[in-house]
Amino acid sequence: MTKLDTVLSDTHGRRITYLRISITDRCNLRCTYCMPKEGSAAWLPHEEILSYEEIERLSAAFSDLGVRKIRLTGGEPLARKGVEGLAGRLAAIPRIEEVCLTTNGILLEDMAQSLFNAGVRHINISLDTLIPERFARITGRDMFNNVWQGIKRAIETGFTKIKINAVAMKGINDDEIAALAGLSLNLPLEVRFIEFMPVGDATTWSMARHLSCDAIKDMVEASLGSLTPVPHGKNFGPATIYTIEGAKGTIGFISPLSRHFCGTCNRVRITPDGRLRLCLFSDNEIDLKKQLRSGASRNELAGFLRQAVAQKPLGLVSLKNETPHCARAMSKIGG
Ligand code: SAM
Ligand code: SF4
Repeated sequence: MTKLDTVLSDTHGRRITYLRISITDRCNLRCTYCMPKEGSAAWLPHEEILSYEEIERLSAAFSDLGVRKIRLTGGEPLARKGVEGLAGRLAAIPRIEEVCLTTNGILLEDMAQSLFNAGVRHINISLDTLIPERFARITGRDMFNNVWQGIKRAIETGFTKIKINAVAMKGINDDEIAALAGLSLNLPLEVRFIEFMPVGDATTWSMARHLSCDAIKDMVEASLGSLTPVPHGKNFGPATIYTIEGAKGTIGFISPLSRHFCGTCNRVRITPDGRLRLCLFSDNEIDLKKQLRSGASRNELAGFLRQAVAQKPLGLVSLKNETPHCARAMSKIGG
């Protein structure tokens, strides 16, 4: 392969270096904004889910094409048995520089050390509220303390980057924006507010629940004082990051709707059933499982992926600025 061949890019000139893999659609929570109400009844049958061996083959082919960062997500990735082993095997693929994870934190207290030992250094933990009763209402499970213990254990374990993902929802948790942001004052966390997105037919999203990142930032500043921008490199991702003077951590804002970042998008996603999803908001998926199960070699897979990724749509712009929406549930995409 020539050097030029190793660069995976789409027809809009965007280089794809980041792969998000949803390793299961199953979850131990039932967040109202993510999981279809029928929950387990709609779970994919085991044989439809990519095996760890198949995920490893795909990751190796992507690494040949320039992918350097892999995020394991779900559903709940820690709920799939043996995820630490998978993380370790992906981290060992030459040229993969980072394997990270997004989790709801329920099982993290027990698994933090083994994930760290497997080579995971960056971890995102989802938490939308600090009020246990509200947590139970949002997630369908009374398990706030499990997540909180998981966060504490992650800090003790020494992960180099721990991000807290909070979906901001008007009328649901907007009265806690300052309290959540305030976690960054005394703890080494990046608290990131994510705009509520209309993903999945069963989502409770509505425009009335939407809060823009500008509005969230104003709320933080009104309570905690002015935010100082933290400069970051071009591969840092879509969040804009700030800090409060003297704080141990930072505060981030991710604004997929109010200020989209499609022009610099460097990622593609794989669903648990082995579909390549080129844009979060586009249901136009490409079947990779068929390639894997027909015995394609690493080179053949790489060739297929190169052609597939070239079809990545420009993004919201191509949706004529209407509110984007897709049918597949977020729990089957991975965020
Ligand atoms: N179960 C894991 C968790 O909750 O972190 C990983 C999968 S979850 C689908 C990944 C991320 O997507 C979480 O941070 C979650 O809050 C976010 N998410 C789910 N549905 C969303 C929505 N409708 N809008 C914005 N973020 C959403
Ligand atoms: Fe499960 Fe994560 Fe979706 Fe909540 S956001 S239902 S924890 S997959």
